[in-house]
Formats: sequence, C-alpha cells, structure tokens
Amino acid sequence: MTPLEALGMTEKESKYAYKRKSAWEILTKDQIKKAFDFSEEYKKFLNNAKTEREAIQEIKKIAKKHKKKIILNRESEAAIVLLGKKPISEGVRIVISHVDSPRLDLKQVPLFEDSESNLALFETHYYGGIKKFQWVTIPLALHGVVVKKDGTKQIFTLGEDEKDPIFSVPDILPHLSHEVQDTKKMSDAIKGESLDIIVGSRPVKGDIKGKIKAAILDKLHEDYGMIEEDFISAELEAVPAFKARDMGFDKSLIGAYGQDDKSCAFTSLKAIIDLNRPEHTAISLFVDKEEIGSEGNASAQVITFLRSIIKELDPNVDMDGVMLKSKVISADVNAAVTPNYTEVFELKNASSLGNGIVMSKYTGHGGKYSANDASAEYVAEIRTMLNKAKIPWQTGELGKVGKGGGGTVAKYFSRLGMEVIDLGPAVMSMHAPYEVTSKADVYSSYLAYSAFLKS
Ligand code: MN
Ligand code: MN
Repeated sequence: MTPLEALGMTEKESKYAYKRKSAWEILTKDQIKKAFDFSEEYKKFLNNAKTEREAIQEIKKIAKKHKKKIILNRESEAAIVLLGKKPISEGVRIVISHVDSPRLDLKQVPLFEDSESNLALFETHYYGGIKKFQWVTIPLALHGVVVKKDGTKQIFTLGEDEKDPIFSVPDILPHLSHEVQDTKKMSDAIKGESLDIIVGSRPVKGDIKGKIKAAILDKLHEDYGMIEEDFISAELEAVPAFKARDMGFDKSLIGAYGQDDKSCAFTSLKAIIDLNRPEHTAISLFVDKEEIGSEGNASAQVITFLRSIIKELDPNVDMDGVMLKSKVISADVNAAVTPNYTEVFELKNASSLGNGIVMSKYTGHGGKYSANDASAEYVAEIRTMLNKAKIPWQTGELGKVGKGGGGTVAKYFSRLGMEVIDLGPAVMSMHAPYEVTSKADVYSSYLAYSAFLKS
C-alpha cells in the first residue's frame, strides 16, 4: 500500500500528497548501471570485511590506495579526513557508520570435549541482538586474532577458502525436537549456552582422558603454535561462511552477512574517496561496538578520538565551537518492510527495499526513549539536499509504536551539540546470518553521503 492509498486517496486527488517513488524510477539509466557496478565492489568489500578488524584493515587499504588521510584508533576504529575550503572553526561534516556486526564470539576457555557425542566443540557467547535459531546448522568461518603470551599475533581467517574447513552449530532433528524445542517459545527453544560449535571428532591414540580435545590442541599447536591458554587473550568470532551474492532473477538485491552496518561503512568510504576539496572539512568515521551499546575504547562514545583529530587539524581551535557548528549523518540501516510480517510496521512511516536511502528523524523505543530526535530544520536541510540532487529517499521509522525499536550512535554526537540525523539503506532480515539490501538503495546511500560530505 502506498502512503496515499493508506490515506484513501488516489494520486489525482491531491498533487500535494507525499508519495514515495521507487528508486529504480528516479535513478537514471546511467545511474542504474553504475549502481550495479558499485555493487560488485561492495560485495568484495563484504567478503573481505566480515569482522570489525578486517573492515578497518580493508578501509585502510582502500584509503591508502587513493592517498587519503586515515587515522586509526587501535584496531577497530578509523577516520578518513579530507580538508575543506572553509576553516575548521566553521565546523565539519561527519558521516559515521559502525563496522561491527552480530556474530558468535568464542568464550575465554572455549574448547571442550563432549564424550557422549564424540565431538570437540567451542563454547560461544553471542555478540549483539541475534535470533539464536538462525545461527544453527549453517556454515561458519572463524575470524579474529590470538595474541600469544610473547605478544605475537596470530590472525585467523578459516572457513572462507573453498579448501578450508568450516564450523557449525549442531541442532536436534525434527523427529526428536517436540519436547525440547517445538512446544517452547521461539526465543527459548535454543539457549545461548547451546550455541556450541563443532570443531573436530578424531581422537588421538592412547590411554588418556579427552582424546578428541587433545587432538585439537595438538593440531592448533602444530598449525598456529597455540596453547590452550592463548584463547584467553584472543578475539575469535564465528561468522557466516557465506559469500555476498546477487539475489533474485533480476539481480536487484544483495544477500550477505554484515550489511548492518557495512553497507553504510562502504558507501561512506567510497563517498569520501571520490570527493575533492569539499566546502567544510569532511570526515568519514568508522566505529566499533555499536551492536552492544557503543561501549568501549573504539566505540562512538570515545569522543576523545574525534577531538584529537580536530585538534590535529587546527591546534588552536575552540573545540566546543566546532562541535556546535558541525553536522553529522549517523549512517545506519533501517528495517525494511518484511513480507508476512507487515503487522509490526506502520506502513505510511516504514521503509521498503528499493525506495532509496531512509531518513529517520528519530529512533529509540516507547515514547522516543533514548532517541536522537533531529530538529525539523535539520531534516528540512537534508531533505532539500536530497531532492536537489535527485537522490531517491524515503522516510522510515523502525516498526509500529510500542512494537520494539532500536538505537544508533546518533545520540552520542547530538550530545556534543552537533546536528545529527539517521540516514542509511533499509535492510531485510537484519541481524540474520544473511541480510538483504537493494542495489538501488545502496547506491542511493553513496550518492547521499557524497552530497552531504561535499556540502
Ligand atoms: Mn546498525
Ligand atoms: Mn544492528
């Protein structure tokens, strides 16, 4: 149903009515071709950047290739900075996205042997908001870093190459699931503690306890020089081993892991890479830990990182003055209207795949709790910018009032006195191992971030 139909009007009834149009109709033929080419690069990025550390490495590689100034905060936060014509004291333009995505983290002491099933498994602790049943019986790859006691780092990417083994969380067969799953609430059917990953089954020979675990430890030592205690100083993440793929006969969609929020990370990266001498100094900022509430020293709440960047650009600047004059896009995804579940959306105010980048004036839950609520003036400014540049966009609110909700990093920047609004593509099956976006929306996001950073 279009918003107009929802209002009970046909288009002829009011030429003044707000009507959403398909991005595929607004984009020119040439732009659609570019959108498809852009998606090829995007899929490569998604395949190479499944974790926050990998995303930052990939962003660094691309920035260096294009001779752009990149500043890192540890291993999982980065900023690309492009000086503008105006002095820093006039404020900056920031597009901020997050590079972490929901997944299964390994616990500190992950390895154990289950003698009844003859398996060695890893204990996991899930990261971010997942629906647990989506993470069983799919191929998983292990990504991350192990820091050994001498400080040397072992980087892991196992399960991506065709020749690599993959890992998987086992599930009970339907013949026996009645009591343990089928009669339970969906959210209780699979417990966090049962998301254990199979890592091997072949025992060592001899008369010792835990022969399968011993065999895995031998193999880890042989291949990586690791001992069991090394897991304690590691960040190992089990992520879907799927590759990013085109979806649909018309190839108009992209299916991939981690599009929340790497769709925004990649498009804002490309936007600043392709930019020359903007009006205001432009910054694309990539942060970690959004999915667990932006806590931690590489998260959006580390304002000291942004401060240090601004200070480096102009040591004598009045920091509060800069903040008050700065404008921000919180580049994060919104929920796409999902077939069979339209009852949780209020359709006049929900975003759909293929209708362009989504502008969310506010996020939060309940009575707009924890929301950044952008001012009408700033919304108007962004709306005018998008309309002028003929960039497809739609407005969007995450679900019906009281049905749920969600937050973004917007509030941490508005607290500094900056103008902030949420702007990003709609994603279907958000936080699932395989998320869906529209190529037209991803490209619209690139166009929108480009127009903003240039302003
Ligand atoms: Mn997000
Ligand atoms: Mn998310």
